[in-house]
Amino acid sequence: MTQTTKPQTLTVLGATGSIGSNTLDVVRRHPGRYQVFALSAATQVDALLAQCAEFRPQYAVMASAAHAAQLAEKIKANSLPTQVLQAPGAIEIIASHEAVDAVMGAIVGAAGLAPCLAAARAGKRLLLANKEALVVGGQLFMDTVKRHGATLLPIDSEHSAIFQCLPEDRSSWATRVDSIVLTASGGPFRQRDPATLAQITPEQACAHPNFSMGRKISVDSATMMNKALEVIEARWLFDMAPEQIQVVIHPQQIIHSMVQFKDASILAQLGTPDMRVPIACGLAWPERIESGAARLDFAQLAALTFENADAQRFPGLHLSWQALRAAEGTTAVLNAANEVAVDAFLQRRLRFDRIHQVNLQTLERITPARPASVQDLLALDEEARSAAQAAVARLAA
Ligand code: NAD
Ligand code: MG
Repeated sequence: MTQTTKPQTLTVLGATGSIGSNTLDVVRRHPGRYQVFALSAATQVDALLAQCAEFRPQYAVMASAAHAAQLAEKIKANSLPTQVLQAPGAIEIIASHEAVDAVMGAIVGAAGLAPCLAAARAGKRLLLANKEALVVGGQLFMDTVKRHGATLLPIDSEHSAIFQCLPEDRSSWATRVDSIVLTASGGPFRQRDPATLAQITPEQACAHPNFSMGRKISVDSATMMNKALEVIEARWLFDMAPEQIQVVIHPQQIIHSMVQFKDASILAQLGTPDMRVPIACGLAWPERIESGAARLDFAQLAALTFENADAQRFPGLHLSWQALRAAEGTTAVLNAANEVAVDAFLQRRLRFDRIHQVNLQTLERITPARPASVQDLLALDEEARSAAQAAVARLAA
């Protein structure tokens, strides 16, 4: 390919994870179109080293000084040009650096909030996979994006689908759009007897039928808290009222979500379930580039089916609407509780069916004051984590 325009410079936050490595896979397919400026990871030194060797970014950042020191040593031993930044706030630096055009937010959890906000404040093109950042940040996140002229592009497959189905003129949504319909796979326990949910192990919960994903989102898919977070994410991304957002289970994951208009017409976005599609869409938007995903073979599709989510099996799903209607900041409390509960489940300190109890009990104990700043949000996140830890201790297996 002959390249006539300057390559787009890219920072990938959470580069070693499932979304991060899929992002680099799309980048790899387009030599000359993207230039990796910086990469970050929490603890996976060797995986980040391999990415630095292939993509030769200017900077790399690790979550702790000890891991950064290990990476710096290996980078030196391999004579690579990458500099390991160790300063406090290094991750915010690579997210907002003036040399960066686009930032992929692919950290998992509320830990991604500060770097995503840094990218938004710097007016970047922000590709958002890290749904927890938006669930915690809510109105404040969206205000920051708007005030600083950042471009926010959803990477979560459902939100990418809705984004692609909505009219480009945002000001017309209020008069044209009736509702949005998020599709959900239903996860690995869609048909399991609810009486047996207590015995589920982390290995079973992380074996998703259609996707290989990080462990936290895999557990969230199994409880359908992932869909609860996505309802909240959709509320902010598309400025919808909670009652305009519906969820339907669609096990084949071919329809990635839909928009229903005022005249009852519905537009849907379809394709094989492969996260490289929404990633490529966000990277190139409004252009379209090869993602590496397989084409949908209609002759091979047996059927597209739909069903309601069973409230007994998936009690967490409805917490999203409840939290959106409660005091501002309640969604941050729900997210923090869920992060703590999932972590405890993955460490075998909490039964699968008690994740919901931790979330409920934390919501009952904390009534947030309206968060006016990022500091307020982080303090609320901290307070909710302590309450959730106490709930885990009470409910521990
Ligand atoms: P993952 O666990 O595979 O990867 C997470 C990445 O973030 C890793 O690079 C890890 O090193 C880094 N990280 C973790 N904690 C960190 C911290 N405290 N500070 C800095 N870096 C940290 O997760 P994933 O599946 O790639 O998911 C990433 C985000 O994308 C999540 O918010 C998830 O909900 C969202 N998402 C994922 C998928 C998917 O298919 N995997 C789909 C839609 C949305
Ligand atoms: Mg999703």
